[in-house]
Amino acid sequence: MSTAYPRPVPAAADDARFWEFIAAGGFRVQRSTGCPPFRHPPRSVCACGERASEWIVSPGHGEVWSFTVIHPPTLPAFSARTPYGAVVVRLDEGVFLVSNLVDCPVEDLAVGMRVELAITTVDGDFALPLFRRAR
Ligand SMILES: [Zn+2]
Repeated sequence: MSTAYPRPVPAAADDARFWEFIAAGGFRVQRSTGCPPFRHPPRSVCACGERASEWIVSPGHGEVWSFTVIHPPTLPAFSARTPYGAVVVRLDEGVFLVSNLVDCPVEDLAVGMRVELAITTVDGDFALPLFRRAR
């Protein structure tokens, strides 16, 4: 399996903060200080107009909301990994992340599968918020 992931480069301050938490081995979800719903991806202004936000520690528990299995042809960085599952995880906080499951054959992928965060280092030093089946 290749570990040559293209690196998503944080482009905005709020997004950079999310990646800093991941790199430190933590996982946090952003929400406005003006209303309760969590939001992801991070952004500088809430839909309610509030600019102040806070980062709440999350255990990273959720379920597979949707998935697809990726087959060739793909970008060269991903070709050695095929077939693999691309999943949409709905965290218990109500936000969605597009990710991959580790240690899960594509035949076992299922909507509703309980998953947990598995921060995984790729490219030697870059941490990604991947998931695995809940234990
Ligand atoms: Zn708000």
